[in-house]
Amino acid sequence: MENLTKKILTALVLGVIAGLILNFVPDNIFAAADTYILQPVGQIFLNLIKMLVVPIVFISIALGTASLKDPVQLGRIGGKTIAFYIITTTVALTIGLGLASFIQPGQEGAFNTGNAEYQAEEAPPIMDTLLNIIPDNPVNAMAEANMLQIIAIAIFLGVALAKLGDKTAGIQKLLEQGNEVMMFLVNIVMFTAPYGAFALIASAIGDAGIDGLEQMAMYMLTVILALVVHAAITYSLAIKALGKASPVQFYKNFFPAMTVAFSTSSSSGTLPVSMKTAQERLGISRSVSSFVQPLGATINMDGTAIMQAVATIFIAQVYGMDLAFSQLVMVVLTATLASIGTAGVPGVGLVMLSMVLQQVGLPVEGIALILGVDRLLDMLRTSLNITGDATCAYIVDRSEKNKESAVETPSQ
Ligand code: ASP
Repeated sequence: MENLTKKILTALVLGVIAGLILNFVPDNIFAAADTYILQPVGQIFLNLIKMLVVPIVFISIALGTASLKDPVQLGRIGGKTIAFYIITTTVALTIGLGLASFIQPGQEGAFNTGNAEYQAEEAPPIMDTLLNIIPDNPVNAMAEANMLQIIAIAIFLGVALAKLGDKTAGIQKLLEQGNEVMMFLVNIVMFTAPYGAFALIASAIGDAGIDGLEQMAMYMLTVILALVVHAAITYSLAIKALGKASPVQFYKNFFPAMTVAFSTSSSSGTLPVSMKTAQERLGISRSVSSFVQPLGATINMDGTAIMQAVATIFIAQVYGMDLAFSQLVMVVLTATLASIGTAGVPGVGLVMLSMVLQQVGLPVEGIALILGVDRLLDMLRTSLNITGDATCAYIVDRSEKNKESAVETPSQ
């Protein structure tokens, strides 16, 4: 893992340099290099990762649920996890809104909004997403990679396996072996991570161009600052106060997974690595990690929430529109709900952002302004997204272990 992290970091540095150099070559040479080398290499890497997402989420949640033999424990862990996710996402949004209102990254008239065009992808209505959590056709859910539905089937299967015990030992064994196969494949895919990371970052920087980066500097800095504040304050406080551990040690141990998230821009794709890191380097029990982290990769995205908060304020400022307090509350509500139904894959944050903008009556075309630099920010926010999931797993695991030891040593 250490070795892989070093290789990925080196690839990222080389990728940034290559991306910057590409800004100086003629446009047609950049376009050719981008179309025929960088994008295909990046795409192959992302496809390799996405290929593994559905089986990994399904198998790990089914096994995680099956290992929680007692339904009360399942309910308790589920309750704590969802509460943690909702609270931290709300805090993340508040930090994003607060910092963006203070820093004011967007100035009216500084950007040409006349020809801004953005075709918003159709986001499903939130009510539909929630109602459709229980799939009417499990095979369809898998084929469409509908993560919430897959999680629901996996939980049902896990509960059944736990209840039926020895009678279904064969299926349990099959899932465990499936898990081994997935872990093996992930290790193979990770060999290609440095090349994928190089190609993706070089393409992103070459595409945004130095001018583009300069013009968007304030917006990017505000998002980055909010991400750092959330990691350094919210998570660190939670780790210290609730997990009774050193945040520095936590980040040191979890760092390798963060670099993988950074290079893939996909929380779901990074799952195998982040679960392995959490179990082996943070000491989180397998049952909690394999339930809490896959759930988080789908429903908990604090980094994405921060981007949405800052982008909303930025777009409002550029278009010279004031947001009332009630609209800010609306941003928090919509962004929290929007993150629930969407899987952690590259760029999904923009789909959610279009929902938020529509909800508060801001022009969706505003997304065109931030599109150029979104790829880079996606990398950073994905690292924060998976850190939030691991923080939650750590705290829930701690509280479960405390409960167990309190039961084992009852007070006199
Ligand atoms: N790429 C992010 C993730 O996978 C989602 C996003 O912000 O676009 O967590």
